[in-house]
Amino acid sequence: MEKVIIDDKVFVPYITNEMIQSRIKEVAKAIKKDCEGKNPLFVCVLNGAFVFAADLFREVDYPAEITFIRYKSYSGMASTGAVKQVLGLENDIKGRTIVIVEDIVDTGYTAQSLVAELQKAAPAEIKFASLLVKPDSAKVDVKVDYSCFEIPSKFILGYGLDLDEQARNLKDIYVLDSDE
Ligand code: IMP
Ligand code: MG
Repeated sequence: MEKVIIDDKVFVPYITNEMIQSRIKEVAKAIKKDCEGKNPLFVCVLNGAFVFAADLFREVDYPAEITFIRYKSYSGMASTGAVKQVLGLENDIKGRTIVIVEDIVDTGYTAQSLVAELQKAAPAEIKFASLLVKPDSAKVDVKVDYSCFEIPSKFILGYGLDLDEQARNLKDIYVLDSDE
């Protein structure tokens, strides 16, 4: 793994794809146990979570469904605070077991408004899975049922996460070089 330069900023290797895959297997095991026999509906939050959702969903080897919703709150390297729903849910989720799949919980605003929005459609239960959580950035309390990694409040990218739409296709996760 080499450092990468995106938008004139230097990013250094942080979490390898191998480490990610190994944590996904563990998290998938917990989700499978909790949702067995419930035909869970995974709700992938676009764009960032699509890579994580693809890997996580394929670890669930019993009947399950996946759908997609789109939210946007980040501009550059900071949360705008205002969460905007760009693409809504088309499925009827009444009485269903929902597993929200997010890339990262930062301030928690996105997670909070997502859960509130889905709650209105009367699902049986909502579980929340996030690849990453930045506990020190939390502005609101959100219950994350499953997370692969807790990280400090530094800007990261790769494995689906972007800097202004760049770097989603990196296989590993990189962090902004602290010398910057
Ligand atoms: P929140 O609403 O502040 O919790 O922000 C959540 C969203 O911000 C995530 O779904 C990401 O799309 C984006 N985000 C937060 N932190 C980072 C980061 O370090 N790199 C890239 N995107 C991030
Ligand atoms: Mg996101």
